[in-house]
Amino acid sequence: MALEAHFEHTIRSEIEFSGVGLHSGAPVSMRLIPAPAGSGIVFRRIDLDNFEIAAVGRNVAKVSYATSLMRQSVLISTTEHLLSALIGYGVDNVIVEVDNLEVPILDGSSLPYVQAFQSVGLKQQRRKREYLKILKEVEVREGSKFIGVYPGSGYRIQYTIDFPQPIGYEMFTVDLATGDYINLIAPARTFGFKEDEAMLRDMGLIRGASPDCAIILSRQRVENGPLRFNDEFVRHKVLDLIGDLALAGRRIQGRVVAERAGHAMHTALVQRLMRDRSAWELAHGYDEVAEPEPLLGRLQPATVS
Ligand SMILES: [Zn+2]
Repeated sequence: MALEAHFEHTIRSEIEFSGVGLHSGAPVSMRLIPAPAGSGIVFRRIDLDNFEIAAVGRNVAKVSYATSLMRQSVLISTTEHLLSALIGYGVDNVIVEVDNLEVPILDGSSLPYVQAFQSVGLKQQRRKREYLKILKEVEVREGSKFIGVYPGSGYRIQYTIDFPQPIGYEMFTVDLATGDYINLIAPARTFGFKEDEAMLRDMGLIRGASPDCAIILSRQRVENGPLRFNDEFVRHKVLDLIGDLALAGRRIQGRVVAERAGHAMHTALVQRLMRDRSAWELAHGYDEVAEPEPLLGRLQPATVS
């Protein structure tokens, strides 16, 4: 299922997940329900009278270690991995029912979502998919952190990270229009440094963390290997970026470049883009599907476990 499909899609049948929220540690049951064309991705808090929060930029709330949506002070937290899977796999319309405030972390990647989409299948809808076609550059810079979006065919992302060892420098490039999301991005898990654990726990940010839902790093090594890719870290940043840019409300047609960015930078770009109405237009379909280019990431994928 690649993004060149020019019509909207929803899932063929309902899908259920359960787990805990990474940040809250709260148990949560989640149900994805097929939705009509044109409805987009909408979260529904069934524990709060079915209060609905659409996955769009105007509902972005505080953004530190995860992306959260808020409307009338009702929160839905850590939306990025699910949104990434929906965009990456090509699901336009779905209702996401949750009975708590945070999306379950599952294995820390978006692979469980993609596998569930593969097992139920997608249903093509009658409405043509609209893309957010980038007409001119929009950039956000903050010190050494940078993110920008530029005109271009397809949906190309280039991400560079530079973390302390053992991660170091990694760069990865992918074009979602060629359908590489499922194999190259979805399996990449979130990660954290052991030395930050106490601080993050004190801040209440990783109450649900365990070695089953994140790569744990010390300064010397990966503590709970093996990695799914040698460059799994930068691939996970790409996964997050796709999920955060989903908040533009439509798939992007253009090129995104990110360096040492994170959720705050990703969502700042969405908000700047939404404000600058001359930077984009709504367009049907890609003008052309970009030729797959050789991956610029330095390392080859390892076997997916
Ligand atoms: Zn993430």
